[in-house]
Amino acid sequence: MKEFRYFYAPELAVSDELPADEAAHCLRVLRLQVGDEIWVTDGKGRCCRAEIVADGGKRCRFRIVEEESLPREWTSHLHLAVAPTKNIDRMEWLAEKATEIGFDELTFLDCRYSERKVVKTERIDKILVAAMKQSHKAFKPVLNGMEDFRRFVARDFPGQKFIAHCYDESDIEGRGVGAEEKTMDGGKPFLLDVLDATQDTLVMVGPEGDFSVEEVRLALQHGFRPVSLGRSRLRTETAALVSVHLMRIRHAR
Ligand code: SAH
Repeated sequence: MKEFRYFYAPELAVSDELPADEAAHCLRVLRLQVGDEIWVTDGKGRCCRAEIVADGGKRCRFRIVEEESLPREWTSHLHLAVAPTKNIDRMEWLAEKATEIGFDELTFLDCRYSERKVVKTERIDKILVAAMKQSHKAFKPVLNGMEDFRRFVARDFPGQKFIAHCYDESDIEGRGVGAEEKTMDGGKPFLLDVLDATQDTLVMVGPEGDFSVEEVRLALQHGFRPVSLGRSRLRTETAALVSVHLMRIRHAR
């Protein structure tokens, strides 16, 4: 498979033409011509080997030669919800890497201590497309815009849901314990140990200043389970990527 000949055509079911930006890349950047072989995915699981049949002007039509089977590499729906960092480059990095590793849905959370309240989803979506193509996948993760934390946790999700946070369990429960009783992971189970491979999974990761204690309590009331991502205190984007990778490992086919 030549990744650089892999194109995204979300309307593949009803159209035999590449979208304008993909056509431009195909014809002008790669200088492919009639008769050349390309691969086309709709980002919804379908991938085809095709042949360019018309390359007039800015348009590129193709004929499907055969369906390619790209079986899903993981078993359940993997959803990451993360409070975006102040520096958007870190979220773009996360979107790219998480897509390469493999997950299904990305939501941005507006939390009490969020330093960023706006995310341009068109830009992130382009990164998801590029990373899907680059890593030769047939599924593009679903991208949701910024959602209010309180509204998000109150929604219904199938499967299991977790909140990764850095507090000690005792802080959340509101009981004081001596410093000697505090553990490095705050008494929370490690995410990998509690993931159930048979269930859809949602993990929430907080902003640079962490979730507030009230937010953690609210999530627990709505059935989220608290988890640790290990003893090290990770940056938001690292914690998010680690969460995706742990989900991906546990749900690997
Ligand atoms: N500034 C905070 C840390 C926030 S880390 C402090 O110093 O206490 C940002 C987010 O990453 C947290 O909200 C949490 O979701 C996640 N995170 C980072 N390291 C983690 C760990 N070891 N266990 C669980 N969650 C972690």
